[in-house]
Amino acid sequence: RRLDSRGGLSAGLLGEIQTPISTEPLESLYDMSGELGRGKFAVVKRCVEKATGKVFAAKFLRKRRRGRDCRAEVIHEMAVLETARNNARVVNLHAAYETDHDIVLLLEFAAGGEIFDLCACDELLPEAQITRLIRQTLEGVHLLHQSNLVHLDLKPQNILLTSPCPPGDIKIVDFGLARRLGAVGELREILGTPEYVAPEILNYEPITTATDLWSVGVIAYMLVTGESPFAGDDKQETYLNVSQVNVDYSREAFSRVSELAVDFIRKLLVKAPEDRPSAAECLSHPWLWQQQFCLSPEPAAATRPVRERSCGAKWAAPPEDL
Ligand code: ADP
Ligand code: MG
Repeated sequence: RRLDSRGGLSAGLLGEIQTPISTEPLESLYDMSGELGRGKFAVVKRCVEKATGKVFAAKFLRKRRRGRDCRAEVIHEMAVLETARNNARVVNLHAAYETDHDIVLLLEFAAGGEIFDLCACDELLPEAQITRLIRQTLEGVHLLHQSNLVHLDLKPQNILLTSPCPPGDIKIVDFGLARRLGAVGELREILGTPEYVAPEILNYEPITTATDLWSVGVIAYMLVTGESPFAGDDKQETYLNVSQVNVDYSREAFSRVSELAVDFIRKLLVKAPEDRPSAAECLSHPWLWQQQFCLSPEPAAATRPVRERSCGAKWAAPPEDL
C-alpha cells in the first residue's frame, strides 16, 4: 500500500555498514519456523539459532524489486539500525546473510507482536498501559531524532512488543523508509501508508522530525479508541481526511480516558509541522505522567476522570537520560 516515491530515492540514504553480510547458508545455522509478518518486499520469519537456541526474527528483503537492484535500500536499512544500536526502543540487528534473492536481517525477536493487535482487539488497553507505551515510543523517536534520523513509517504495525500479556516494552521496527535529515538539501518524498502519514507528505512538502510526531498522534488515537482517525472508505477520502485534519474527538471511547489524552492527541494532529511539539516536549505532557487514571474498565459505568492533578516534581520533566 505504499505510494511510489516521486522524489530522488537516494536522498538521505546511508551507505556505510559495519555488520558483515555473510554468504554462509542460513539453514545450516538457523531453524526457520513460522511467518511473523510480511510486507510488499519483505517476509519476516521466526527462527532459532542452532548454536545457542536463541530466537530471532529473520527479515528477508528482496534484492531485486520491480526489476530494479535494491541492494542500496537494504544496506540503508541496516545502516539505520546500526546508527540506532544504542537506542533500547529500537530492535537490535544481530547479523546479516545473503542468499540468491534476499538479504536476510537477523533481528532481535519481539515476542509480543504488533501494538496494532491492541488497537484492533475488542478490549482496549487501560489508560496507564497506553501512556506507558506512548512514553516508550516517544523515547525511541526522541533518540532517533537526536541522530537526525526520521522513521517516516511509524504505525501500529511497526511498533512491536517484547512480550504480549501483559504488554511488555515496545520495539520500533521497519526502517525501510527512514531517512537522515539535513545531509544534502531538504527531503521531500511521497511514501508511507496514507492512513498514517502526515499532511506534508501527501502535499509533497519538506519532511522534518515533526512528521514522525504526527504518526505518534495517530498511534495514540488508535490505542485510546481502537479506530484509525483518518481511514476513509477509499484512498481519496483518507487523503481528504488527512489534509483537512478531519478528526472525531467525540467518540465514546474518549469518555473512558482522561481529558489530558485528548489534549495530547490534539497537540500532535496539527496540520502545520512547525506547530507540533517535539518528541522531548511531548515527553513532558502531563497525560504521560499522571498517576491516577479513570478507573472504570466498563464504558457504561465510566466516571469522569480526575483532571489536572499535580503530578509531583518527579514526573514534571522527561527522564534525564534522554
Ligand atoms: P515491512 O517493511 O515489510 O513492513 P517489517 O519490518 O515491518 O517489514 O516487518 C513486517 C512484520 O513482521 C511486522 O509488522 C511484524 O509483525 C513482523 N516483525 C518484524 N520484525 C519483527 C521482530 N523483530 N520480531 C517479531 N516480529 C517482527
Ligand atoms: Mg512494516
